[in-house]
Amino acid sequence: MLNVVIFGAPGSGKGTQSARIVEKYGLNHISTGDVLRAEIKNGTELGKTAKGYIDNGQLIPDALMIDILAGVFDGFKDGKGVIFDGFPRTIAQADALKAMLKERGQEVSVMLDLEVPEDELMTRLIKRGQETGRADDNEETIKKRLVVYHSQTAPLIDWYKNDGTYRHINGLGTMDGIFADICEAIDKL
Ligand code: AMP
Repeated sequence: MLNVVIFGAPGSGKGTQSARIVEKYGLNHISTGDVLRAEIKNGTELGKTAKGYIDNGQLIPDALMIDILAGVFDGFKDGKGVIFDGFPRTIAQADALKAMLKERGQEVSVMLDLEVPEDELMTRLIKRGQETGRADDNEETIKKRLVVYHSQTAPLIDWYKNDGTYRHINGLGTMDGIFADICEAIDKL
């Protein structure tokens, strides 16, 4: 199984590159952000809870997120593996992912860290907000999300370095160029 964690700050291109990885390598895709947005759209209890956190640029509590992730993962019928997009976002989530995969006889094959400078992230997210109307892509919420990224999510870089699965990817460049670097990292596994 090829289990890929695609990692990076908001606006680093995780979703865009995930779609291409899915297509090339035949992986199942879990985007926790997409799962939550679908719940909000459907007006579920989970969606109502999640909306409060998302609109405020905060993370959904770990225990809730971990349950959601395990449910989606176990719903996959088959495939060559999974790409985790937007999960884990905290050390507790990384620990839980490792344990969940281990229970199922699997592990993370690689963690791809898409690094993009902060001013570029801001430009991309504001543009996305204007184009898609995504509620949390406004300047005030983006700033909060970047603070949360640095304080709660960025420590995972060292966590995955210790795990031996960390790979740095320069997230600045053309979509094709970045995808080529990603494929090189995956194909080396
Ligand atoms: P994303 O689409 O991945 O940028 O996620 C949008 C928002 O959903 C985040 O700002 C969080 O509020 C929430 N979210 C997505 N994934 C997670 C996660 N793994 N843990 C906690 N909150 C999450």
